[in-house]
Amino acid sequence: SDAERLISAEKRGEDDVTLRPQRLDDFIGQAAARANLKVFIHAAKARQEALDHVLFVGPPGLGKTTLAQIMAKELGVNFRSTSGPVIAKAGDLAALLTNLEDRDVLFIDEIHRLNPAVEEILYPAMEDFQLDLIIGEGPAARSVKIDLAKFTLVAATTRIGLLTTPLRDRFGIPVRLNFYTVEELELIVKRGARLMQLPMSEDGAREVARRARGTPRIAGRLLRRVRDFATMANAEIVDRKIADEALIRLEVDSLGLDQLDRRYLDLISLNFGGGPVGIETIAAALSEPRDAIEDIVEPYLLQQGFLQRTPRGRVLTAVAFRHLGLAVPTLPGV
Ligand code: ADP
Repeated sequence: SDAERLISAEKRGEDDVTLRPQRLDDFIGQAAARANLKVFIHAAKARQEALDHVLFVGPPGLGKTTLAQIMAKELGVNFRSTSGPVIAKAGDLAALLTNLEDRDVLFIDEIHRLNPAVEEILYPAMEDFQLDLIIGEGPAARSVKIDLAKFTLVAATTRIGLLTTPLRDRFGIPVRLNFYTVEELELIVKRGARLMQLPMSEDGAREVARRARGTPRIAGRLLRRVRDFATMANAEIVDRKIADEALIRLEVDSLGLDQLDRRYLDLISLNFGGGPVGIETIAAALSEPRDAIEDIVEPYLLQQGFLQRTPRGRVLTAVAFRHLGLAVPTLPGV
């Protein structure tokens, strides 16, 4: 069911705010992004100017929101946060923008889901720090220009291809976030366990990290469920065995794939002979929205080398068949 889905894109209350790193130096992983941001933040502070607009791109749960908050802290400015689907009308965005102070960070999550009328308002705001509003209707309508504070827009999206070109072009600093390595996730799990005062062995932390699907949000969720399991089992320390038992119960496999991943892989391998099969067909057969499959399921499978995207559709690789314990078919024309 949806509630049980570990890899869902939603940010449920479960994202424990106490686990969120507060400074750039506490943020684990994404070394390249961190190094670049450090330079830009330092330069903006030295010049006492607003930082250029930043666009974070990457799958859900990799730390886009966290980095946006950290940037505001490091810059010493206010942090205001909203998301694309929440801003219904141009007036809603205007209200947000006119309340900003110089150099403030405005964070817009899921910016690819902004309605086009709202996006129009955003262009001059980003470029010239001006609002162009139409007041009134019919013959009495007039256009007014309002000066805005020199703010920094920090936006997040799961896929850059979902943004319109004019919007994409207005970000001076695009930052791509990648899946985390097991070593990085192990540090994140250990830090989380420490903050939760949960005794954990090295191999316990490693096991959770290995099965966190390259994603800190999932690492946090797994850690909480492993903790519940350890409490029930009266375990004094979470070791590899306890972690493994808990994760098997959660139906997270040895590579961290969950039920939805397996339904996806089973469908293509068993029903479509390994592919190629189109995304619309997959979405219909799984009764899942296409976006969810493209944002949540596929990026990790692609990164793991389980999947190829071809012009004719998705094709499973030999690696995927081996993981599923199936004979590798001779794939035509891949
Ligand atoms: P996104 O905005 O990309 O969906 P978030 O910033 O909301 O992701 O992060 C999801 C969860 O993972 C948060 O609870 C956050 O504390 C945690 N998290 C993300 N990145 C890191 C990191 N580098 N180190 C530790 N925890 C992290």
